[in-house]
Amino acid sequence: MSEDLGITVKRDDDISEWYQQVVLRAEFADYSPVKGLIVMRWWGNSIWEAIRGFWDPIMRNHGLKNHYFPLLIPESLLKREAEHFEGFTPEVAWVTHAGENKLEEKLAIRPTSETIMYEMFSKWIKSYRDLPFLVNQWANIMRWETKMTKPFLRSREFLWHEAHTVHKDKEGADEETKWGIDGYEKISEELLAIPVIKGKKTNSDKFAGADYTYAIEALMPDGKALQMGTSHMLGQNFSKPYDVKFMGKDEKWHYAWQTSYGTSTRLIGGLILAHGDDKGAIIPPKVAPVQIVIIPIVFKETDKNIIKKAEELKEKLVNHGFRVEVDSRDEYTAGWKFNHWEVKGVPLRLEIGPRDIKEGKVVVVRRDNGEKSSVKNIYIEQAIRDELDDIQIALFNKLKENMDKNTVETKNVDELKKALTQKKWAIIPHCSQETCEEELSKKVEGGPRVIPFDQNGVSGRCINCASNAKYSLYWGRSY
Ligand SMILES: [Zn+2]
Repeated sequence: MSEDLGITVKRDDDISEWYQQVVLRAEFADYSPVKGLIVMRWWGNSIWEAIRGFWDPIMRNHGLKNHYFPLLIPESLLKREAEHFEGFTPEVAWVTHAGENKLEEKLAIRPTSETIMYEMFSKWIKSYRDLPFLVNQWANIMRWETKMTKPFLRSREFLWHEAHTVHKDKEGADEETKWGIDGYEKISEELLAIPVIKGKKTNSDKFAGADYTYAIEALMPDGKALQMGTSHMLGQNFSKPYDVKFMGKDEKWHYAWQTSYGTSTRLIGGLILAHGDDKGAIIPPKVAPVQIVIIPIVFKETDKNIIKKAEELKEKLVNHGFRVEVDSRDEYTAGWKFNHWEVKGVPLRLEIGPRDIKEGKVVVVRRDNGEKSSVKNIYIEQAIRDELDDIQIALFNKLKENMDKNTVETKNVDELKKALTQKKWAIIPHCSQETCEEELSKKVEGGPRVIPFDQNGVSGRCINCASNAKYSLYWGRSY
């Protein structure tokens, strides 16, 4: 095995270094010549395509229509909603020149598309009959992060989808905001096998310009939370400055109610962090670019028959809808190949040697728990289907157990501090005052994550000011 192939640090010893090694060595992504911008390689990009393939039909079925808006937004347009502009200004990258000539007005590279979309919506929407109006786009986004960047988790350019919807009343927009976040829970739990907490952001933490923001958050192995998707109720905060209005049945003009929601390639970072182990990545079968790798165990150079059998098996499995590769490169040993595909996180490895062929069997090895079994050729298709289903569920259950074990209810600041140093996240009773959140942030690490929808009977006193608690709140460090 070549030294630069394996992962040289244990995940729990130095998760940051471990993460970087997995991203690079499993070839999810690579650093580009521009600091903070990554190249998404086939391995990472395929996972994004799988997420798109899952989510796009669900959105279409819900009535969202895919559009594509320009990359550049005039400064004057971006400025029109003050809170929104202020929120994004520090991270906006600007285009100021065309060739040698200075532009009359500088152009923002979209940090999100509310402003340019709503300028167009105001032209297109005329009547209550046009509503609800549901638009989606798959696009790239640029936010010039000043914090340390990390591939997928905090990149200056990333891919996402952003849905923007327009409704005639508040109820319609409220429902849509909920629909968005429920969808992200589905992506995270059903597709990526990552359990999440779903809830509302506190006011200090909501989207710039929104009435409120819903989010899903997942607990990572180092005790930090990762936000996996957000859905914003924009109220009439944008429809007024951007003039998105409609003629109602009452023949009067009304400002529309709007929402926006999005999730990004950050999910890929979440997947690597959440599931990986000391050997490398573990990719849930539903999104794995390769679900099964077949390794022919060849002893003599002349033994071409084994490679032929491996190819036949691949073809059979591909015909059943599985994503399969045969690694028959003779310049690498079987041991090297095992390691290579383990780092990359392929869910199942099949080994075929001369004895297996004689006995009509294949050796099946699971990436998640290392279990080995010998399966008769005639049963292979069903056995593989069962194993992949089982891995998908096992990965979810393992994280769920871990999340439950590492979530604690704390009643005072000392308990909260202790929980955070033990890499746990905490549920605290809170009075809902913003000043109280700020004070608490100064006393302990981390900050408010979400007010979970599941409130099961809030009681007690605010952990900081001791007044009556209004809700329980997840508190923790975050990515
Ligand atoms: Zn308080």
